[in-house]
Amino acid sequence: MPGFVDKPEPVQVPGLEHLHTGKVRELYRSAAGDLVMVASDRTSAYDWVLPTDIPDKGRVLTQLSLWWFDQLADLVPNHVISTEVPEGAPADWAGRTMVCRSLQMVPVECVARGYLTGSGLLEYDAHRTVCGLALPEGLVDGSELPAPIFTPATKAAVGEHDENVPYEEVARQVGTETAAQLRQTTLAVYGRARDVARERGLILADTKFEFGHDEQGELVIADEVLTPDSSRYWPADLWDPGHPQPSYDKQIIRDWLTSGASGWDRTGHTPPPDLPAEVVEHTRARYIEAYERLTGTPWS
Ligand code: ATP
Ligand code: MG
Repeated sequence: MPGFVDKPEPVQVPGLEHLHTGKVRELYRSAAGDLVMVASDRTSAYDWVLPTDIPDKGRVLTQLSLWWFDQLADLVPNHVISTEVPEGAPADWAGRTMVCRSLQMVPVECVARGYLTGSGLLEYDAHRTVCGLALPEGLVDGSELPAPIFTPATKAAVGEHDENVPYEEVARQVGTETAAQLRQTTLAVYGRARDVARERGLILADTKFEFGHDEQGELVIADEVLTPDSSRYWPADLWDPGHPQPSYDKQIIRDWLTSGASGWDRTGHTPPPDLPAEVVEHTRARYIEAYERLTGTPWS
């Protein structure tokens, strides 16, 4: 069964209750009842959390999310309270900690797609639809869609696949009003982010958001946003529909894992091996490059 190759032991901090070890983040509850999210340098691929860390990844994800939350602040409220490291926590939490409002999470992965690729392309090739939405003939891997679409997925546990679900199923699960709000907000945020990325020479092909309700019942954007882990970014100058696009995410890792060099059988039950140093360094450089291109700030 996929999952963690080596399940990490969470750091215990006096005054913080450890809630959950996610694929990438450790979650704690503070004495004040807030959620403390600490991003690790872990990476998941093919439903496994890999045995090799990517140095600085947790800080890049956190800093990029914070930057994006600021860019989106006029569109949607977010869950961030502060970035202060709680008293007694290790110093290396600095830069990768977000103290957040603890929300009632909506159990839907809110995906927006402006371009066709990945699981969307597979469904399109088989049925000319994505998430049940009909699309025109003639689209290929990397094509821009006539308009961005909302393609929600169910949230899967560690080691399981997220599954695309039709909008009507989301409406059944969370109610028609919340479903409509999720779709509208997801597409509005995607549209903004796509335009910002485009000005910086990047195509935001697709992305995933998570939302929750606060105590007043207001819909708040949560988790991480618009990072290479939750989004597909492509260099705009290399965009060439009809082929897989070079992307700023874990592609380097996936390519190595499925190449003969890794000796790993993706379809078997053995855990993936350690990543070689050059794959680690190459991936780290891609994450940093994405941060620098988007924010216009050198990574330090
Ligand atoms: P899961 O399998 O539960 O989705 P994951 O493996 O994706 O977890 P991470 O992304 O590492 O886990 O951890 C983040 C977790 O915190 C997710 O479960 C996410 O839904 C949850 N979360 C994010 N923001 C909030 C919030 N403000 N309030 C409550 N939960 C949140
Ligand atoms: Mg997650």
